[in-house]
Amino acid sequence: MKALVKARDEQGLRLDEVPIPVVEKNDVLIKILRTAICGTDLHIYNWDDWARQTIPTPMVIGHEFVGRVVGVGDNVYEFKTGDLVSGEGHLICGHCRNCLAGKRHLCKNTAGVGVNRPGCFAEYLCIPNSNVWACDPSIALDVLACFDPFGNAVHTALSFDILGEDVLITGAGPIGCMAAAVARHAGARHVVITDVNSYRLELAQKMGATRTVNVARENVSDIPNELQMKEGFDVAMEMSGNPAALGSIMANMRHGGNIALLGIMPDNTMFDWNTVVFNGLTIRGIYGRKMYETWYKMTSMIQTGLDITPLITHHFHYTDFQEGFAAMRSGESGKVVLTWTE
Ligand code: NAD
Ligand code: ZN
Repeated sequence: MKALVKARDEQGLRLDEVPIPVVEKNDVLIKILRTAICGTDLHIYNWDDWARQTIPTPMVIGHEFVGRVVGVGDNVYEFKTGDLVSGEGHLICGHCRNCLAGKRHLCKNTAGVGVNRPGCFAEYLCIPNSNVWACDPSIALDVLACFDPFGNAVHTALSFDILGEDVLITGAGPIGCMAAAVARHAGARHVVITDVNSYRLELAQKMGATRTVNVARENVSDIPNELQMKEGFDVAMEMSGNPAALGSIMANMRHGGNIALLGIMPDNTMFDWNTVVFNGLTIRGIYGRKMYETWYKMTSMIQTGLDITPLITHHFHYTDFQEGFAAMRSGESGKVVLTWTE
């Protein structure tokens, strides 16, 4: 089969011929229809320090996908040939304390599709049946291909009560833009989003942000007054990975506010702990998606009118993957979708 492979210790990816994966007794074999490119894939493409230390080569990469079941192992009864599916890219161990408690998103032995084991930028993907999600076929394929990052946005946005609350999102990347849409859908009052990239702030507005702030030109501290919040933001979601953005959150929360951290900060990022203490802030780290509460919420929110299609800005055939990665690198993109078939 054809696959996008990090073949060896060098920048870039290769379109290679590799064997179709072997289906073990608990596995599902999926014919890939659409995939989406994640920031993680760009790190692997660029072959930065993180990628070099993390990814064994050769590796088929990619973890955002939708496809059709074409084969199942002997123990698999939940899925059959022809089912439309996406899947959870985090494989969990099933026997650590959190797994046994049903908190599988907190498994301490998580392994990643397209990171630690072969991924979905290929004609076929093989994953355990417990990682497969049955899709509502009335949802567009492009949208289903984005369920993994959409899940990051949903898990973060729903980690605190946002109904009627004033929300600050730092970073209007694909995940920040989707979080803005979720916050509006879930009943937030003001949804303020920051970035330094005006293309992405425009996207965020299309997705439902009520006020965009280009922090290269404007100060977040002026916004609570402008919007008559009086005491600052109730809930913040850090989705940029930039320490300056974290600083802008700390300086503008109401006392007792809730902060969810998704963005991955540089090592040794400083943090204003005394503001956390004196202002009684709650901070929660967010990793991945809940298995499978987040997947239920994503499906039901799309079914009740949440629209993430404005975020899907680019489509390419998989053989034109270089153009897809160039679109990602440009910063002038939302989600970039690659078509494999159908
Ligand atoms: P992205 O890199 O596409 O978007 C980040 C955005 O932040 C960019 O648009 C950038 O211009 C903006 N930004 C940079 N400096 C800023 C500043 N000072 N203030 C406001 N915005 C600023 O990333 P993404 O794919 O949308 O993901 C968001 C973050 O979440 C990344 O840090 C990513 O690594 C992280 N992530 C975490 C998880 C997890 O499980 N915890 C999963 C996926 C992604
Ligand atoms: Zn576990």
